Amino acid sequence: MPCQICRAQTRNVLTKEQNISCGDYFEGRRLYPEDRGALALMECISCGFARFEGMDRWSAEEFAERIYNADYHLCDPPFLGARPRKLAAWLASALPRQALVDYGGGEGMMAELLRASGFDAVSFDPFYGDGAPPAGGSPVVTAFEVVEHAPDQRGLFRALMELCDPSGIIIFSTLLKPAQLQGDWWYASARNGHVSLHSPESLRLLMAEFGLSFISLSAEMHVAARDPSLLEVTGTWPAIAVNDPPSATYRAL
Ligand SMILES: [Zn+2]
Repeated sequence: MPCQICRAQTRNVLTKEQNISCGDYFEGRRLYPEDRGALALMECISCGFARFEGMDRWSAEEFAERIYNADYHLCDPPFLGARPRKLAAWLASALPRQALVDYGGGEGMMAELLRASGFDAVSFDPFYGDGAPPAGGSPVVTAFEVVEHAPDQRGLFRALMELCDPSGIIIFSTLLKPAQLQGDWWYASARNGHVSLHSPESLRLLMAEFGLSFISLSAEMHVAARDPSLLEVTGTWPAIAVNDPPSATYRAL
């Protein structure tokens, strides 16, 4: 299969049991002991975009059964509370009070916290069974730890742009990989639903295709806008760490 982003050839850089999760690297043990078979991580030889082979063909039912099931939270404990709290506090310190759509925000805790601090914030998560999306034209659209879960990158960014005002900004996080992965990497864990992993170059290509300027505030936090002058304000924003790195000593493989 050619690269989804640039159509160049891909190569297998990592083969990993699909039930290994990011959380294993933090806990130092397998959170889901059962083996379900290894998957090949295929990396583009040109832009560095990587994805687990075959997962793009899983049905919604397969994702619901194997990934987003009742045990999902085990592999990402901050998902339930700590991360929405941290991100809501960060946004409240960076942005003026305004309308905001949080895409892929699960049960909507971050949007709820932002409403409590004066934002007109709504959550929309198609994977949580939310029905019709909110009206487009929001000045701010957020998507935290969503990009790496989307098998269809163009479909995702099309959806984000439909929600965003032409003069708005899209704030999103996904941890960027090195152009060429060497050995194992905790973030490349299928059990978390991490199916699409960007390098700096593959993200640049995708943004350019959508006519978006963007700035990476860190290896994991990015801001995009049609009008590059809208990105200047990010220079005044406080720093944010979405994911703390796991213990360097644990080896899942
Ligand atoms: Zn590529």
